[in-house]
Amino acid sequence: MKIVTDTSPSATIVWFRQDLRLTDNPALLEAANSKGPVIPVYIWDDSAAKAWIPGGASRWWLNRSLACLKQRLRDIGSDLVVRTGRAEVVMEELVRETSAAAVVWNRCYEPHAISTAMAVKKSLDSLGVVGKSFNGALLFEPWTVKTGKDDPYRVFTPFWRACLQLSEPLESESAPNSLPTPPFWPEGISIGDLPLLSGSVDWWHKLDAHWTPGEVGGQKRLDGFVERAMPAYKDDRDRPDLLGTSRLSPHLHWGEVSPRQVWHTISVALRKQRDPGSSPGSQAFLREIGWREFSYHLLYHFPLLPEQNFQDKFEALSWREDEDQLQTWQRGATGIPIVDAGMRQLWQTGWMHNRVRMVVASFLTKNLMQHWREGAAWFWDTLVDADLANNSASWQWVAGSGADAAPYFRIFNPVLQGRKFDPQGTYVRTWVPELGGLPDTFIHRPWELSEVELGDYGVVLGETYPRPIVDLRVTRQRALEAYNEISR
Ligand SMILES: Cc1cc2nc3c(=O)[nH]c(=O)nc-3n(C[C@H](O)[C@H](O)[C@H](O)COP(=O)(O)OP(=O)(O)OC[C@H]3O[C@@H](n4cnc5c(N)ncnc54)[C@H](O)[C@@H]3O)c2cc1C
Repeated sequence: MKIVTDTSPSATIVWFRQDLRLTDNPALLEAANSKGPVIPVYIWDDSAAKAWIPGGASRWWLNRSLACLKQRLRDIGSDLVVRTGRAEVVMEELVRETSAAAVVWNRCYEPHAISTAMAVKKSLDSLGVVGKSFNGALLFEPWTVKTGKDDPYRVFTPFWRACLQLSEPLESESAPNSLPTPPFWPEGISIGDLPLLSGSVDWWHKLDAHWTPGEVGGQKRLDGFVERAMPAYKDDRDRPDLLGTSRLSPHLHWGEVSPRQVWHTISVALRKQRDPGSSPGSQAFLREIGWREFSYHLLYHFPLLPEQNFQDKFEALSWREDEDQLQTWQRGATGIPIVDAGMRQLWQTGWMHNRVRMVVASFLTKNLMQHWREGAAWFWDTLVDADLANNSASWQWVAGSGADAAPYFRIFNPVLQGRKFDPQGTYVRTWVPELGGLPDTFIHRPWELSEVELGDYGVVLGETYPRPIVDLRVTRQRALEAYNEISR
């Protein structure tokens, strides 16, 4: 290992984590303003994350996003040093090698990320090096939004109302044009050497067709959404057959776009309209960003959210274990068209529309009575936007065990959901092409046609497409009884 002795003593290390951007990056800005050399660093540390090491699809995203970040840094004359190991150990080595006087980073809110940052800070303190963190991931820090009794909010609407009464998030900051470089770069490994794209099959190439990870791709998504889809967002956001949502979730998760950038881009768009109050699209969109904030606040205040029922009474619920049914759900072969369409969209693209996420999650936890943790784990591995706060809070919300959750008796009927939100069956036809010939009225319930009628449309249930693995009415009743039991 090369020992660098003549680096300026005032070098600052910027520790990138889930803030893979140059624009509106408070930690990077702090380092840039320090005038000394800036050493951007990424550390792959899977020791603290345990079960929450990024899943397969997320690791693909990270691979691409780090490459983009490195290029962006090189474009302004800097670079990215990549290493693996326990963050506090690697950081101590880097500090010694570079004689850095400070390490700066943006805060993450996952319990393991908090403990890692605390370990790094402790080690820096012992070396007499400044360790400073910033808010780059949220509009409002979790400890700043509290009820009158100084408790965290457990219900979304008052939470979001309280947020909107706080002072507006600061303007987002531009990316630095250049960064002072150290006299010598500490050694690192190449991004390709990180354990991100493992496995014998290059399954991830299908994701390349759908996404452009990185800051530039994220900014384009945001601008494109504001221009094209935001005005109709309120009405279209529930329609999986339309391109009605932003698809910003993976960019927000990896911090390629900051929520402040989103907030101010929307505000500017609103100001350009004559009557800002008349933009239900933007209000509805900011409210969804509000749900993201709410999930992060929940995870911060209730760090067991990914593992334990938020509502204790759900500990008594008898979940069913059925590996075959679980796999059938994962593969998108349940025989319920909208559920299968969603699960196949997820497998093919690493993303699923929010309405369909709710439908497939309700089907798993209520019709199949499988634990929400099974669904959350599958999403964790397959979503490009897998996010510990949003995923855990949303699964618990659908299962009924979470904060401000759907009432337990709300069991989505996938047929009605399909007919309402995918009225022509366009979404189902895209992902379940074997049903493509069915008329709109039956595409969400093929089993209601006779064999002869199905045959006319080229469908043989049990052969070209599965029969439903459960009876929706019977399993709905079974779930109601089980849920009733714990609600007495
Ligand atoms: C079972 C289940 C699991 C989910 N798992 C995740 C996950 O792992 N990661 C994730 O980012 N979202 C998750 N969501 C929330 C939501 O489905 C996605 O954020 C959304 O579909 C992403 O698409 P979009 O960017 O086009 O959303 P848009 O509708 O354009 O919304 C903009 C942004 O707001 C945030 N947002 C929107 N809806 C929600 C919500 N209900 N809860 C929290 N934040 C929201 C996201 O950051 C999103 O990118 C989950 C929802 C369900 C029902």
